[in-house]
Amino acid sequence: MNAVPRRAGASPPQSSPQGGEGVPQPTSHSAALAASTHAGGQVEQAAVAHGAVLTAPPCGGGREGQAPHVGIAGAGLAGRLLAWRLLRAGMRVSLFDAHARTDRSSAGPTAAAMLSPTAELAAADAQIHALGVASLGIWPQWLAELHAQTGREVYFRREGTLVVAHAADTGALDHYAALLRAHLPAGSAAAQPLALASRAGPSPDTPIAPAGPAARPQSAANLPGGLPPAESSVRQAEAAMQPVDGARIAALEPLLAGRFARGLLLPQEGQLANDQLYAALAAALDAGLAACGGAWHEGLAIEQVQAAALVDAHGTRHGFDLAVDCRGVGSRGEWPGLHGVRGEVLTVFAPGISLRRPVRLIHPRYAIYVAPRPGSQFIVGATELDSEDAGPPTLRSTLELGSALYSLHPEFGEARVLRLAAALRPALPDHQPVAGQGADGVWRINGLFRHGYLIAPALVRQVAADIVAAFAAARAAPPGAATQGASRASSNLQPPIQTQPQAA
Ligand SMILES: Cc1cc2nc3c(=O)[nH]c(=O)nc-3n(C[C@H](O)[C@H](O)[C@H](O)COP(=O)(O)OP(=O)(O)OC[C@H]3O[C@@H](n4cnc5c(N)ncnc54)[C@H](O)[C@@H]3O)c2cc1C
Repeated sequence: MNAVPRRAGASPPQSSPQGGEGVPQPTSHSAALAASTHAGGQVEQAAVAHGAVLTAPPCGGGREGQAPHVGIAGAGLAGRLLAWRLLRAGMRVSLFDAHARTDRSSAGPTAAAMLSPTAELAAADAQIHALGVASLGIWPQWLAELHAQTGREVYFRREGTLVVAHAADTGALDHYAALLRAHLPAGSAAAQPLALASRAGPSPDTPIAPAGPAARPQSAANLPGGLPPAESSVRQAEAAMQPVDGARIAALEPLLAGRFARGLLLPQEGQLANDQLYAALAAALDAGLAACGGAWHEGLAIEQVQAAALVDAHGTRHGFDLAVDCRGVGSRGEWPGLHGVRGEVLTVFAPGISLRRPVRLIHPRYAIYVAPRPGSQFIVGATELDSEDAGPPTLRSTLELGSALYSLHPEFGEARVLRLAAALRPALPDHQPVAGQGADGVWRINGLFRHGYLIAPALVRQVAADIVAAFAAARAAPPGAATQGASRASSNLQPPIQTQPQAA
């Protein structure tokens, strides 16, 4: 796969139907929105406390021009999800991406889309685990909403992950199990509330620090979707990780009968089909943009993101009420420390072979998983290489991925190779995500690293609620207290966002 280009395609900038884009706009109103961020957090916490989700009825054409207009750079996983949630909240949205909507070169369409909060504890911390648990509760609701809106099904399974090792590698399996066990009880957010940095409103004196505390997600204890009820450490570890013997492995996955004597079942995990998710989100976005206003600019790279404007590769400045940077590794030039971590995956077609759940194969040198997909497809991943080279997969990686699949069961030897792909995961030096408004007024979701599908719903829902609350707070500000820009933002506000019960 190819590197994400810094400049792309030559589509001329389009004007929105409301004439908001391509026109220089004042940016001072972002200060009022920044000042209201704290209130935003409070609003979301209240909504979460009542198990509510922020959604509004789809807006009608008659309301165009009155809703706040949000510009989003990057229509990948984070950008699409955020755009969809903001449209659902009644806002106008304009999305810009360097590529066409069907392009598959970035991380989102390349990923295996495993939802593995427990398995990832080998490489991630309690915050990622807590965000993952919260997101696993959000996905079914969002996929049901997407289905209701577009009629499209997105493959989603939550039957756990099976971890196995060949007889020679049981030492590595024991080490892996010990690693998870060590992290699970003490690191679990249910057992011990996280002490994360608070999301205090940014100070105008603070230099831009996107990776700093102001832009970190708030405590997982406050996340939408909630956390599991408190349990004893032992019971919680048992619920998250169960040793299995050969007979149980055979019962869980008949294909693997007789091939592995020991393993682990991680019952809470799941996976989804990201190609179906991308297509469903595209359909929902088209419907939302038609109803609420805004546009999807494909093949138009954004070179710079400002508090209330996006500057494209042609130098045109598109003004908005608020701008969000969701460009993944495409933000590298503007963000020291943000880098790509290369990953490669293999997709095969193997009719007649069946797995119910993802299988992780533990090996001393690599950890590879095989995730079933609809249509007798299996995705095998993923390498993790400390490299920003986004060129095609190497022979070495291809051999490793293929060998792991073949060693799982020789019947995979007849599988047809459908795709070999590589892409860059967007990562910050500490491998933690950023979601929120920076001191420069720009909103960002980035640094999702190898956990985008695992944690994006919790982060996106939080950011969407904070944006909605920031506009509401700007509208509620007393006359004269607002800046010129804030007045403009205030005049664009929607009726109050409605809440509705969260799906089970
Ligand atoms: C091989 C591999 C396997 C993975 N497996 C998993 C997994 O099993 N589970 C999991 O949870 N996560 C997994 N991930 C991680 C996941 O894919 C990422 O965390 C996620 O895609 C990041 O989302 P994002 O929206 O921030 O970035 P991206 O998905 O990369 O999207 C960024 C978007 O911005 C656009 N863009 C870039 N530059 C510009 C610009 N200048 N102007 C406009 N647009 C621009 C891009 O075209 C792209 O559409 C995997 C990743 C890889 C590479």
